[in-house]
Amino acid sequence: MLGKDYEGQFCTLASALEVVGERWTLLVLRDAFYGVRRFSDFAVHLDIPRAVLSERLRSLVEHGVLERREDPERAGRHVYELTNAGRALWPALHALLRWGERFRSPRRHFAHAACGTRLDEHGACPACGKLPGPEDVQTRLAPGARSGRDDRVSLALSEPHRLLQPLA
Ligand SMILES: [Zn+2]
Repeated sequence: MLGKDYEGQFCTLASALEVVGERWTLLVLRDAFYGVRRFSDFAVHLDIPRAVLSERLRSLVEHGVLERREDPERAGRHVYELTNAGRALWPALHALLRWGERFRSPRRHFAHAACGTRLDEHGACPACGKLPGPEDVQTRLAPGARSGRDDRVSLALSEPHRLLQPLA
């Protein structure tokens, strides 16, 4: 098994990768930006072993990227929400999403929620010249793209959806 840290690497990229560089971690964060908050929703959308998901969530909480709170609607359960440090990963995540779209396959578009204009590759709105934070960004499937899954998170995300807005 590979080690999780990059001992001997004194680069800040290495220290960021200690937090977000593990398999599945960026997908967990992507879903958190999509508004997924509950363990069961992450599990059904990501379709990963629950033990792996638990470990990724625990690590993200420990690193201050997610916060674990009591679920206001379900006693004894918890929700996971992005902290300020977590939200600050939006530009990096968006850059990776755009890269994937350009060099892999287009799946999803991101737009400035206030005016509906698609963000440019830097995450800025070409219409108003703003660099919207994730709370002002809306996502929708790219034209012709299909979600390919039918779990409740995928179904909710097949409609336009504002980032960070809890998915029910
Ligand atoms: Zn705009």
